[in-house]
Amino acid sequence: MKKVYAAPDLLSAGHVRNLLEQSGIGSDLRNYYLGGGVGDLPVNECWPEIWVDDGDASRAEQLIRELQSALAAPPGPLWHCARCGEPNEGQFSECWRCGAPRSEAPQTP
Ligand SMILES: [Zn+2]
Repeated sequence: MKKVYAAPDLLSAGHVRNLLEQSGIGSDLRNYYLGGGVGDLPVNECWPEIWVDDGDASRAEQLIRELQSALAAPPGPLWHCARCGEPNEGQFSECWRCGAPRSEAPQTP
């Protein structure tokens, strides 16, 4: 087994586990029971950890890197809905106002 990720909270750990599971990689969650003992130990030794089989480790690390870069990426420029003209933030793939897909939007110059 190899540790591929340490999460600052259980929510992040659960998210990473789900991602790995969707890709067919089984993982163990360790340390989750230590959450109440923070104080005597360095905090990041109490973080929930994701462990996978050695054979899955490089693929798991790749998936986690992709997840982290997706989360860190800027949302992109505003785009304007072709149907109603509403400005939408870059992370949305359809107009929040009328529901038209982004592909109908004209390319911004
Ligand atoms: Zn619209």
